[in-house]
This record gives sequence, C-alpha cells and structure tokens, in this order.
Amino acid sequence: MHELSLAEGLVAKCAELCRGRRVLAVRARCSAGIDAEELAAVFPVAAKQYPGGELENATFDLEVVPAHLECSCGWAGELPGDNVAGHIGICPGCGRPTELSGGLELLGLGYAGDAGPG
Ligand SMILES: [Zn+2]
Repeated sequence: MHELSLAEGLVAKCAELCRGRRVLAVRARCSAGIDAEELAAVFPVAAKQYPGGELENATFDLEVVPAHLECSCGWAGELPGDNVAGHIGICPGCGRPTELSGGLELLGLGYAGDAGPG
C-alpha cells in the first residue's frame, strides 16, 4: 500500500499548511510510478484518519502528468503509457526496465469561504 503512505504524507502536508482552517479542496499532481486511481481512492481514508478533522470533507483533485524517463542509453522524454507498468518504465530506445521515481506534488488548497480552489 505505497499509495496509502503517499496519501498520508500529503494529508500531513495539507494539515500543516491549513493551520486549523477547514479544507474543502486539495489539488495535487502526480507522475509516473503512482497509481492515480488508487491514490484518489485512499486519500479520503487518510484525510478522515487525520486528527483535527480539517480535511475530513476535502475533495481531492489529482492531475496526472506523463512519466518522464532519462535512460542511460541516451533516450529521454515522456514515456508512452504502454511503456509504463506500475513503478517500472520500459525505455523505448533500448527496452531496458527502469524504476520510475514517482512524484507527488501538492498544488493548492481550497478553504471554506473561498470562491473555489485556486
Ligand atoms: Zn534506454
């Protein structure tokens, strides 16, 4: 359950940023190596578990960006979806499997009383 620990980390970061304000929306971006569907599914679980309850009703807006690979063979670029299997990317140049360093980035928080997130 790698995604759950990612979600918990994200929730902790949000809780730090919101400083007690009630969060209605969380926007984040993830890239390769992260199961976006799984992450979106476990985020509410992590949010509800977090003490304080600032995030218990927050919606989760996840933007998925393509995997990026720089291979030792010299190939570099965005990996086609067919070349990504879970946390492993297959280089289109040489076929070598490479572990992808997935990234999860917090983009912004929306609070109660705001017109909307952002
Ligand atoms: Zn390669």
